[in-house]
Amino acid sequence: MTLLTVSTSSIRVLLAGPTGLGAAKRLHQLNQSIWALIEASPKAGGLASTDTTTEGFLFDVGGHVIFSHYAYFDDCIHESLPAKEDWYEHQRASYVRIKGIWVPYPLQNNISALPIDVQAECINGMIDAVEERILRAKEPPKTFDEWILRMMGRGLADVFMRPYNFKVWAVPTTHMQCKWLGERVAAPSLKLVVHNMLYNKVTDKWGPNATFKFPARGGTGAIWKAVANTLPKDRIHYGTKAVKIDVVAHRAYLEDGSTITYNKLISTMGVDVLISQLVNTDEVDIQRLEKAKEGLISSSTHVIGIGIRGKPPSCVGDKCWLYFPEDDAPFYRATIFSNYSPYNCPPCNNRLPALRYADPGHGKPDTTPRVGPYWSLMMEVSESHIKPVNSQTILEETIKGCVTTLLCRPDDEIVSLYHRKFTPGYPTPSLGRDSALDVILPILESKYDILSRGRFGSWKYEVGNQDHSFMLGVEAVDKVCYGSPEVTLESPDFVNGRRNLERRLTK
Ligand SMILES: Cc1cc2nc3c(=O)[nH]c(=O)nc-3n(C[C@H](O)[C@H](O)[C@H](O)COP(=O)(O)OP(=O)(O)OC[C@H]3O[C@@H](n4cnc5c(N)ncnc54)[C@H](O)[C@@H]3O)c2cc1C
Repeated sequence: MTLLTVSTSSIRVLLAGPTGLGAAKRLHQLNQSIWALIEASPKAGGLASTDTTTEGFLFDVGGHVIFSHYAYFDDCIHESLPAKEDWYEHQRASYVRIKGIWVPYPLQNNISALPIDVQAECINGMIDAVEERILRAKEPPKTFDEWILRMMGRGLADVFMRPYNFKVWAVPTTHMQCKWLGERVAAPSLKLVVHNMLYNKVTDKWGPNATFKFPARGGTGAIWKAVANTLPKDRIHYGTKAVKIDVVAHRAYLEDGSTITYNKLISTMGVDVLISQLVNTDEVDIQRLEKAKEGLISSSTHVIGIGIRGKPPSCVGDKCWLYFPEDDAPFYRATIFSNYSPYNCPPCNNRLPALRYADPGHGKPDTTPRVGPYWSLMMEVSESHIKPVNSQTILEETIKGCVTTLLCRPDDEIVSLYHRKFTPGYPTPSLGRDSALDVILPILESKYDILSRGRFGSWKYEVGNQDHSFMLGVEAVDKVCYGSPEVTLESPDFVNGRRNLERRLTK
């Protein structure tokens, strides 16, 4: 491996989300001195940021929990927020609300908690699924829907997997591929399910994030602000939006009229947007890129936050995040965000007026500012052209859903409201995604020296979390500098199935 020397290489990193910060961190560690990070927003973090309402409630861009697959990521996070007091450690307490019952996550292992007729429907489906797996062993499922039927059967598909996943992805499961699944969706063990049914037990210790830590102050966004603070300030240009990229001149044009040149460009904006910004591309290339990008689909995410006076109802008091597959609420997930850190709410002695009762039918509350305690709920609603959302009414529908599903009480006093739509929010593992990426990423890299990486830069949901995104940036730099393979981009199942120890921040 040869290290490209600083004098021959100028790398520009566009955008200070986790991917851009990963790239910048690695460049800084490698003592590369010709790089710059360009970020449209006034702060670091991208989709892993945190907003604060005027009343002092914090809300992330939906439920963000760190589960890291990489030692290098952990090193960088620890360097940025090193003190024990910087974090709270939590045990996952996560449930699915179905038929009025809180079933421990993952539901597919715990159908023993459901009414007996639903259990029978699910078990019948699971037995059929075993037969199906044997009969069609040589024929892998093509869509997520086929995968669900093959792994879990029709009962679980109809009760949970299909309605829940439509609420999350805003497309039917028949429109999605199944290669992305890896460790993310638990395939149930028939033995375990039957055991739990016979002994009336539940199993809740599945999966990668059974415990998690959360920043004590400043929400998830505090992590990325702290990472950015470990980098040289003069290299990061906030509030600067890239609007055009001349691939022949190797020059990026910024909104303020200035330009920057590059030898290699690591771009973490959505690759669809990037393609629309390219100028001076070869005519055949641009046609191929434009055609291929039609295969990339995403959904928007509405994040709705509610700050409430008092204490949570006992049924949600100890819970972290909750899933909602049914249509009694518009959201697919709710997070009891005040449970992650007391600093996610204003201090108890802050006096706030009540804005309304959760159920407006309860009348008008006394608006005299009064003290807390306070707690908060954060809900996520997906939107696509297949699943439209009325931005004018979604806040009201969400609060109504919170009351209906017992997340809050009708007479709870709401003291703060938050609603923001993020477009894009989720990169859909659509049927056309991989063939689109197989065209787009090689053209950008081999012909135009642009490495498009990140949640929407390389569009792979299965490696689209914070740890993955950060490492996509790190590995892109190592590829440019050393020619190293980008394992996260190229082998998602491999990185997700192990703890990756190859890189460390300090030797
Ligand atoms: C609802 C939701 C829930 C999530 N939950 C989790 C979770 O539980 N755990 C987890 O680890 N991850 C979670 N994530 C994923 C996490 O947010 C992403 O991994 C991460 O933010 C991706 O980083 P990125 O840098 O690739 O992209 P982004 O965060 O999108 O950052 C891209 C950056 O580019 C900037 N930008 C865009 N266009 C331009 C331009 N033209 N010029 C200059 N700058 C520009 C943006 O301002 C932004 O800062 C979740 C995401 C969402 C939406």
